[in-house]
Amino acid sequence: MNTIKVTRTSASKINSIDFENLGFGSVFSDHMLVCDYTNGSWGTPEIVPFQPISLMPSAKIFHYGQSIFEGMKAYKDADKKTWLFRPDENFKRLNISAKRLSIPELPEAVFMEGLKALLRVDEQWIPTQDGSSLYIRPIMFATGEGFHASPANAYKFIICTAPSGAYFAGKVKVLIEQNYSRSANGGVGFAKAGGNYAGQFYPTQLAIDKGYHQVIWTDDNTHEYIEEAGAMNIFVRINDTLITGPTSDRILDGITRKSILDIAKDEGIKVEVRKFTVTEIVEASKNGSLKEMFGAGTAAVISPIATFGFKDIDYHLPELENPIGLHLKKRITDIQTNKAEDLFGWRVSL
Ligand SMILES: *Cc1c(COP(=O)(O)O)cnc(C)c1O
Repeated sequence: MNTIKVTRTSASKINSIDFENLGFGSVFSDHMLVCDYTNGSWGTPEIVPFQPISLMPSAKIFHYGQSIFEGMKAYKDADKKTWLFRPDENFKRLNISAKRLSIPELPEAVFMEGLKALLRVDEQWIPTQDGSSLYIRPIMFATGEGFHASPANAYKFIICTAPSGAYFAGKVKVLIEQNYSRSANGGVGFAKAGGNYAGQFYPTQLAIDKGYHQVIWTDDNTHEYIEEAGAMNIFVRINDTLITGPTSDRILDGITRKSILDIAKDEGIKVEVRKFTVTEIVEASKNGSLKEMFGAGTAAVISPIATFGFKDIDYHLPELENPIGLHLKKRITDIQTNKAEDLFGWRVSL
């Protein structure tokens, strides 16, 4: 790959940002990485000031939704050194999503070297406060034009970043979905396709209107198997066993999910990767064996669920002194921020 050209902003916004009160993904760093696919190949990425992009209304992204993304983070350790967490997994998954959406796969160097070059330019934007990080959002979408329903002939890959604060979800109340589906057999549920989210917003709003925060997705066929928690993978703990569903066409292969499984196995926590049903967790809740339920994903790492609703009844999870979920969150964030030994070789320095 040729050297990445860098055009720096002449008007950095960094001094206008309140790093003590960052939300999630709402302020954006000074620069972005852009790479174009034209004439059958990906070009050399460039770093430019964060700015609007111009597209024709005939660009296929607007018509046929060829659009995918990734989500990852960069962390500062106590010595202000920058680390990434399993970025190779994000790269692999981006291309898994690309293939399913008929988007040309991206060369590894564009992703890895492009990402590192961007982080070096915007290194000041990586927050140092405890629990905060730089959220990284790679996106890839069709810029090629035409109303013909077929894959575009031009695409854009962009990485933009957002300094984000510590994420406290509070007492999350979820509704087990019995009508709508996030994904189907043979569909695109395993891909990080923008459209998967578009389809979730309406059922999620219906759940919010009923007083819940999020939907728990069940299988599209019977609505009996628990599959994902909003845009996170889901875990339950029954007695001392941690259970999560197997990845499939319908369940996204989350990096947080697989990191939890590896850490739990290393600690001798009993884990089962198997299908589990709504009936099973309702029964477990009634007989007191359901101890924990949590979502797992890059943004929150682990998001404990306090209550789940099913068929007009709310089931409450017990308030525990030492939940395994929070312990696993600490294990992961300690590795991410270089506070603990990296047994698995997950941490990558900038
Ligand atoms: C991104 C995502 C996850 C979590 O994946 P991580 O790699 O852990 O961030 C889970 N489910 C869905 C549907 C997702 O889009």
